[in-house]
Amino acid sequence: MIFTGQCRCAAVTYQLDMDALPAVYACHCLHCQTLSGSAFALHALLPEDALRVDGPVTEYAYAVDGVQSHHQLCGVCHTRISNTTTAAPGMRVLRVGTLDNSQAAAPVAHIWVSRKQAWLTLPDGLPTWPHSPTPQAFAQALFG
Ligand SMILES: [Zn+2]
Ligand SMILES: [Zn+2]
Repeated sequence: MIFTGQCRCAAVTYQLDMDALPAVYACHCLHCQTLSGSAFALHALLPEDALRVDGPVTEYAYAVDGVQSHHQLCGVCHTRISNTTTAAPGMRVLRVGTLDNSQAAAPVAHIWVSRKQAWLTLPDGLPTWPHSPTPQAFAQALFG
């Protein structure tokens, strides 16, 4: 199936070729709060080559504790579309709010809840981790 998305100004559009909408998780870490200007970020882990992006893309890279992140933004409005990280080789992290049908994608796991905003109550029964989960536990939660 082809899923579509775009940045705020629509200069950058993308197509996502996957069998189903990818599993979505919420990250409540301080970096995600600061980068998004919000309480948490909604992410989906994709195979790195599943996303086809068209338009004027610019890059932003940084490193924290030896982990390198390369972010892909619209060169016009600077909406973040996705990033890769050396913590998850071969994967790409999609900013789920850029999907055209993002309302169909509810998070199935919450990470870094030690930094969760106190006013936010999470639904019962979803897996949570105070920090980053192990890759094995995270894969189990996202992909079953
Ligand atoms: Zn844009
Ligand atoms: Zn985060």
